[in-house]
Amino acid sequence: MEPRSASAAGKDFPYTARTTCYIEVHEDGTVTHGGGHAAYERAVAGKSRLFAVWPGEWSSHLFVIDDLDEYAKAHGLKHDEERTGLKEHVHEMRWEPAPHANDSPRSPYISVDVKLDCGCDIHDRRAFAAQMKEQQGWDVATSGGWGSSGAPGGRKTYTLRVRRKSLTS
Ligand SMILES: [Zn+2]
Repeated sequence: MEPRSASAAGKDFPYTARTTCYIEVHEDGTVTHGGGHAAYERAVAGKSRLFAVWPGEWSSHLFVIDDLDEYAKAHGLKHDEERTGLKEHVHEMRWEPAPHANDSPRSPYISVDVKLDCGCDIHDRRAFAAQMKEQQGWDVATSGGWGSSGAPGGRKTYTLRVRRKSLTS
């Protein structure tokens, strides 16, 4: 079976779908399962080749991961402005405790309204959380609810849950 090209499938390629299985073929011919950071490093170094099985409804297709950059961006191994909506800079932001949140005072998390004056959008909460950890020392919750409000095209207000203790810096 000739593998197809993942890069030819473009942005539609389901790099992070639960059903996509990665196969790594090492220099010595050994075949292992699973992608991840180490596999990416080996593939970039030319020590292995990455393939993916994309299971279809009737048959599965084998793809060669020929755009490792795209693979890395999809898996968050590399920052991707387009996917995350976030520039790789220190965000110009304003924040305040969300006025209408019903956080229990005993909850370790507090709801916070965030406005990004730099013009970034949060499409990927995990990526934003990683940036906030670095820039503000915040522990932003990456599970549970979050939301955004604001007129379309206008500046949005994001409501995120942040660990109370990490805010007091
Ligand atoms: Zn920004």
